[in-house]
Amino acid sequence: MTTADQSPGSVTVRVPAKVNLDLRVGPVRPDGYHELSTVFMAVGLHDEVTVTTSDTWRVTVGGPCSAGVPTDDTNLALLAARTLAEEVGVHDPVSLHLHKDIPVAGGMAGGSADAAAALVACDHLWSAGMSRDELADLAGQLGSDVPFALSGGIAMGSGRGEQLAPVLARGSYHWVFALSETGLSTPEVYAECDRLRAGRRVPAPTPSPEVMTALRSGDPQALGRALHNDLQPAALSLQPGLAEVLEAGVEYGALGGLVSGSGPTVAFLTASPEAALDLCVSLTASGVAGDVRRAKAPVHGAQVVPGPTRV
Ligand code: ATP
Repeated sequence: MTTADQSPGSVTVRVPAKVNLDLRVGPVRPDGYHELSTVFMAVGLHDEVTVTTSDTWRVTVGGPCSAGVPTDDTNLALLAARTLAEEVGVHDPVSLHLHKDIPVAGGMAGGSADAAAALVACDHLWSAGMSRDELADLAGQLGSDVPFALSGGIAMGSGRGEQLAPVLARGSYHWVFALSETGLSTPEVYAECDRLRAGRRVPAPTPSPEVMTALRSGDPQALGRALHNDLQPAALSLQPGLAEVLEAGVEYGALGGLVSGSGPTVAFLTASPEAALDLCVSLTASGVAGDVRRAKAPVHGAQVVPGPTRV
């Protein structure tokens, strides 16, 4: 990594990944999306998005998780920057540099995080003066997970996940993430979920009282027991090897584990930073997981980084 002074023509925003503590998938809506009830927690695994005044719109990508990130018009950060430019009447292009630490297609909403970061960075660069509510509205149009990447912390999501409500929560939590070498496509995981549930009546999704109670009392043990993801059977069906990772994590002392979002990243809640480190060692030494990360949570959402910029 090299650094350069953050010039007036350049803004960097740091944005976190998310884990769904509880993900309930309801029936398919007329618009093709599933009705969701979820509880998001922002975790301390971050991407950084730097926007710089430029002659052309373009994206470059670096960092440990850069493989597989598109640099064409489909990049969600570029899409977000252009959407905001149109909204506020800016005609000058920016170049975007993404430093990726969030696994790609891993169920941790990395692309959505970059979109949220690009909104905040461009709003700052252009002195557009958008309120957080206005940015959240735009974010919801860009993707279901984008509003939460703006807000961070812990929140309940309904609708497609884009309608956020506060959650009463205390305490901090220590996570271990076992990354997978191959990603899972979110639409394919939902399609597999529908296939596995075919012929069954799917009730309207409601939040889990156990998760809410655990968060209210700041009890990691209770939260570990309450973790739930309706997409997990579908992710396991598409990547059966994840079952072994889940079993091993709990055997090695995790308070609970689940597939993160649409997977294939597996998230384990642990009792302390030391327990998280021990679990990382056990998972890698046993060969069950190749690449693991630790992260503290909750953390705040997309925020401008003061001072030097990563280039
Ligand atoms: P989610 O949990 O929100 O469904 P995910 O974490 O599983 O998403 P992402 O990392 O957001 O997956 O990537 C999904 C796909 O989006 C990638 O395979 C990639 O082709 C595309 N994509 C577009 N822009 C980005 C970006 N900035 N970073 C990562 N992927 C991006």
